[in-house]
Amino acid sequence: MKIIIHGGFFSESQTNQKVKKAKQDALAEIVQLGHKYLQSHTAVETVVYTTCLLENCELFNAGTGSQIQSDGKIRLSASLMDGKTMRFSGVINIEDVKNPICIAEKLLPYDDRVLSGRGALNFARENGFKYYNPETPQRRKEYEKKLSDSIRLGTVGCVALDVYGNLAAATSTGGKGFEIPGRVSDSATTAGNYANAFAAISCTGVGEDIVSGAVASNIVTRVTDAMPLALATEKTLNELKPYDGFAGIIGISATGEIYHADTHPYMVWASYDDEVEVFA
Ligand code: ASP
Repeated sequence: MKIIIHGGFFSESQTNQKVKKAKQDALAEIVQLGHKYLQSHTAVETVVYTTCLLENCELFNAGTGSQIQSDGKIRLSASLMDGKTMRFSGVINIEDVKNPICIAEKLLPYDDRVLSGRGALNFARENGFKYYNPETPQRRKEYEKKLSDSIRLGTVGCVALDVYGNLAAATSTGGKGFEIPGRVSDSATTAGNYANAFAAISCTGVGEDIVSGAVASNIVTRVTDAMPLALATEKTLNELKPYDGFAGIIGISATGEIYHADTHPYMVWASYDDEVEVFA
């Protein structure tokens, strides 16, 4: 039984000790809650539960506290992959909902499992997901000041291995911030979130770079073909170097290997293996 979570990239953590400490504390608390939940729930249930907690934490760019896009609106993307059933579900650019990962969960048994925009919103409302404005005063302030790229990131993700040996991954984002409306994030694609019986991966970083490197699916394929998770991750991230691709990943393999890595400083993360570990 293992769990690892990320809270995206956050360069401000390097200089702002108060914010860094707040993120460390939040991630440590959430990973412990996730680990406790995992004791009596499956990997899929746990990644949804834990990602939901991350979405509700205003420090991160997912759910409440998401980045505002160039037209002043917040659009959320999230996906879920069950490594046991090989089902992937997600929502892309959905507006006015609280927990996009819960809508992805709702979609998991359907034939049509990835919905975008208006269709995703209609599905959410039909299934009881009420109107919610995820904007916070802090994000509005940042939007109005049009802050630099370096502090725009902060997607969330969770990967878990349950007592039955099953893996799952979930990722949720408010996007890059200030993007053109209609831009599609990697977070609700198999480049940003992927799992099978051998490994599960959640990514953060620049979506376009992650899609170009097919990062999550490539790592999982390499592990499936018998490469250790750490090596598979490093090899895949190396392939991003020629275009200075910006990505961070968390992952767990079926053999219990747990790993995180990033191409640039630095992704914030926390894991619970035998004990809680948090980014320093
Ligand atoms: N990957 C997300 C995106 O490009 C952003 C992030 O991870 O912070 O939409």
